[in-house]
This record gives sequence, C-alpha cells and structure tokens, in this order.
Amino acid sequence: LKRAKNTGKVEVYQPGEVNAARRRFSLETQLRRAIDADELSLHFQPLVDLDKGGISGFEALARWTPPGGAPISPVEFIPVAEECGLIVPLGRWVMDAAARTLADWDRQLGAPSDLYFSVNVSAVQLQRDDVAGHVASVLADHRIAGSRITLELTESSIIADPERAKRVVVALKDLDAAIAMDDFGTGYSSLAFLQKLPIDILKIDRSFVSGMLGDRDAVAIVRAVLSLADALGMRTTAEGIETVELAQTLTALGCTTGQGYYWSKPLPADQALDYYRARHVG
Ligand code: C2E
Ligand code: MG
Ligand code: MG
Ligand code: MG
Repeated sequence: LKRAKNTGKVEVYQPGEVNAARRRFSLETQLRRAIDADELSLHFQPLVDLDKGGISGFEALARWTPPGGAPISPVEFIPVAEECGLIVPLGRWVMDAAARTLADWDRQLGAPSDLYFSVNVSAVQLQRDDVAGHVASVLADHRIAGSRITLELTESSIIADPERAKRVVVALKDLDAAIAMDDFGTGYSSLAFLQKLPIDILKIDRSFVSGMLGDRDAVAIVRAVLSLADALGMRTTAEGIETVELAQTLTALGCTTGQGYYWSKPLPADQALDYYRARHVG
C-alpha cells in the first residue's frame, strides 16, 4: 500500500502505520521502565589516532535489551525517547554511566590516562535540559577532568535554537570539554555555525566515508571537509571505516581519528578496556 501521506491532503492511516504507532507506544512504556530498571547499558567503540596508531578515546553508545527480549537498536529507541521526552533522563543516565566507567578504568589502569569518552547529546536534550550543569556535576561526582569528555552534537541541535546552543557549547568549553559535530554533512544547517561556535572536531558521516570506495564525489566531499577542518583548526574523525583501504586512504588524507568496524565494533565496557590494554601505545 502506498502511504496516504504522500498522495494528498487526506491523512488515512494505513495498517503499517498503525503497527508502527503501536510499537512506538509499547516501546515508550517499556523504555520508561528500562531507565530505572538497569536495562540500559553502554558499549564503547575505539577512536583511533590515525597518525600514531594508538587509541585516543572511545565513543559511548547506548544499548537496550528488555528482559527476555532481543536488543533494540538505538536507531529505533533514541527517536522514540526524543519524541516523548524520555531522552532527558536517558541522556543523563548515559552521561553518568560514561563518567563512572571512565573513573573505573582509571582505577583499573592504575595510571593517569588522557583517554577520552565521547558522548552523544540529542538536540532535544540541548533544548530542554541543563546539559552543561549536569555534565559539571557528573564530572565532579566522578572526579573526571572535563578535558576527558567530548560531547557529540548534531547540526539539528544548532538549528533548533542557535543562541541556546551557543550558550551551552560555551559553558561546556568552560568545563574544558571538547565539542564534536556528529554526522557532519548530513544535516541542513549552514556552514556559518562553524564560525560562530567553538567546535573542536568534525565527525565525517559514515555515508561519505563508506561511499569513498567507489564514488569520486564522495572522495571529493571528504577531501573538502578535511581541508575545511584543517583551515579552521579543527580535528576530524571519520566514522564507518570498515576496510584497510579506507583506513589507509583517510590516514593519507590527514584525517585525525578513525572509527569503524575495521578496528572494532562497539564493545561492552570490560571488553573495551581489554582492547585498550592490548592496543595502547606508550
Ligand atoms: P552515531 O553517534 O553516529 O554513532 C555511530 C554509529 O555508527 C553507531 O551505531 C556505531 O555502532 C556505528 N558504526 C561505527 N562504525 C561502523 C562501521 O564501520 N560500520 C557500520 N555499519 N556502522 C558503524 P549505533 O550504536 O547503532 O548508534 C546509532 C545512533 O544512535 C548513533 O549514531 C547516535 O545517533 C544514536 N545514539 C546511540 N547512543 C546514543 C546516546 O547515548 N545518546 C544519543 N542522543 N544518541 C545515541
Ligand atoms: Mg556519535
Ligand atoms: Mg556519528
Ligand atoms: Mg552517524
């Protein structure tokens, strides 16, 4: 069935949409409980220094497995959490769990480390929550230096309310945290925000990176983003590197950091720490 939405002015729900709405509602109910019931966890994906070859940090990614069920992808539950406002407590839980894990790793490693965790912040959190205030209290609780946390924002966070986004970004920078622009190039913002906001890192979206193998236009876009970042004094992270060819190409092009299945999928905390121990240089 063709979706009625695309055909005219009359909104008629098709069976598929009813099912989707039902699933969304049931997800919302389950998710509300999950946040309190310890059903959420974080996985950590290595961020590799392409120049030196070591691991500079990890991206913390939310995972959810309802009791007795299969894992539900964040691609599905994050938008639901954003729609119903649960992203605020969920985002707070993610931030706290990331800082707690980093403090725990410091204890286990027994040596001061400059390893950083990169945490995703949704546009809805930025609009509705005091993100900088919460980050400040989490850092204090776990005695983590602000320089060890990067916040990944998306272009939509900025478009929604540029003034507010700027205040939050400046407050986060005052804590010494770094700011990354996630999925760079996929949003609809103008490049002007790069001039107005103190952004440290551009994360080149996986769609451009994976496209580089067969598509000259994708290569041109990635080159242009790298040279733009370089000119503006920003670092770059390429997402979705799955092959040695892509790792070599992005290294040769001067990209700062790589992330992708070529090195590792996101891993549970203990496995990620083992990975770090095995791969850490220096
Ligand atoms: P993202 O922030 O762009 O995270 C990168 C996603 O790409 C992750 O998917 C990661 O597993 C995946 N990825 C990394 N390397 C590769 C690769 O080489 N190949 C492929 N095919 N995929 C790769 P994941 O964990 O499913 O998360 C999807 C999205 O959900 C994230 O995209 C982010 O937008 C959102 N998300 C996840 N956790 C959180 C969270 O704690 N808070 C918020 N606000 N959003 C989150
Ligand atoms: Mg991200
Ligand atoms: Mg990303
Ligand atoms: Mg992405």
